[in-house]
Amino acid sequence: MKTRTNERLFTQANKVIPGGVNSPVRAFKSVGAKPIFIEKAKGVMLQDADGNRYIDYCLSWGPMILGHANKAVLDEVKKTMAKGTSYGIPTALETTLAEMIVAAVVSIDKVRLVSSGTEAVMTAIRLARGATGRDKVVKFAGCYHGHVDHMLVQAGSGLTTLGAPSSPGVPKDFAKHTLLAPYNDLEAVKKLFDRHGDCIAAVIIEPVAGNMGVVCAKKSFLKGLRTLCNKNKSLLIFDEVISGFRVAWGGVQKLLGVKADITTLGKIIGGGFPIGAIGGKASIMRRLSPEGAVYQAGTLSGNPVCVAAGIATLKQLKTTNPYPRLEAMTIGLCTQISEILNAKGIEHTINQIGSMFTLFFNPHPVTDYDTATKSDTKKYASYFRQMLNAGIYLPPSQFEANFLSTAHTEGHVRRTVAAVRQVEL
Ligand SMILES: *Cc1c(COP(=O)(O)O)cnc(C)c1O
Repeated sequence: MKTRTNERLFTQANKVIPGGVNSPVRAFKSVGAKPIFIEKAKGVMLQDADGNRYIDYCLSWGPMILGHANKAVLDEVKKTMAKGTSYGIPTALETTLAEMIVAAVVSIDKVRLVSSGTEAVMTAIRLARGATGRDKVVKFAGCYHGHVDHMLVQAGSGLTTLGAPSSPGVPKDFAKHTLLAPYNDLEAVKKLFDRHGDCIAAVIIEPVAGNMGVVCAKKSFLKGLRTLCNKNKSLLIFDEVISGFRVAWGGVQKLLGVKADITTLGKIIGGGFPIGAIGGKASIMRRLSPEGAVYQAGTLSGNPVCVAAGIATLKQLKTTNPYPRLEAMTIGLCTQISEILNAKGIEHTINQIGSMFTLFFNPHPVTDYDTATKSDTKKYASYFRQMLNAGIYLPPSQFEANFLSTAHTEGHVRRTVAAVRQVEL
């Protein structure tokens, strides 16, 4: 693997960009490596500035479910772009994307488009607070909801203690409205409701967690949250920015039959362009401005190019229904990785749902943040670097999800499995 140009570009970037990257995980810090700089991508293949090519299992952190530079998406983007790139005035495209989302996600009657997942969560929380007249929000340790101030609250504060900010710059007064519970622990949530029930505006959760590595919520847990929220007149927010249109057409809600009051989407619905969305029941959504008093706005919200890419992506997913094939291929890959590691005597756990999975270097089941963080991150770092050298690009952290796309084939899976066989840990 050649690295000279990548290294030069990183040095150059570091002079003008904090840490040389525009999002922290891209720096490869947790895997003890220096970042690669991408020149171009097509299908599953990434090519870096040194000309190295990689099979991509990160897919821009999830959005590229059709692979890179998908022809139908690019055609739609080019056609739209030629007519101008932003008007700040409504377009029919926005209604089309909204209609597709409403048709796909059972709990969504109306949807507002924004420019990122973070923005979607920020709005969802404001909306929940505005709708309930309450301030507190329950979140789960290990769930990531973008870099919204009140969501940057870490684990370890104990079940009923108030959240402490996990980043400088977040006022304690913000974080104190965030209540923390362990993922998959309904008893802990019950205790929070016993104590703060009439102050809790919402419970927010990734119904399939992708940001502590893949961790699935138990169906009984999600159902329990639904019941608790109903009983206490709190809202249930599903952050499906990763899982929406990834684990199934219509997301986790479709898969498990538990409905959220508010859903946040992003990633896939922008087809590789910046986007986010907040959707929910009409009675809640009507509280957003200009219909209601909860303020929300955005200069580039519903940008025609982003929306066109999203529509083209969702159309292909709808017409081709790739989900069963994606899942079968992912299960096949995970099974083979597991067999190889078992034969090598390397302790591990693989969590998989649909076309997303995480290989944890952890002998025990991973069901929440505590168990996830007991994984051997040094081993993961070594695994990552060896796979990178072998031309396989994995997420550069133990606590992230791997994704497959419709551009992945059995041939790519075979090459990946062959690379795993060569790994020494
Ligand atoms: C990626 C992600 C976000 C943040 O989305 P951005 O577009 O990066 O702001 C929020 N929630 C979840 C579950 C995510 O995976």
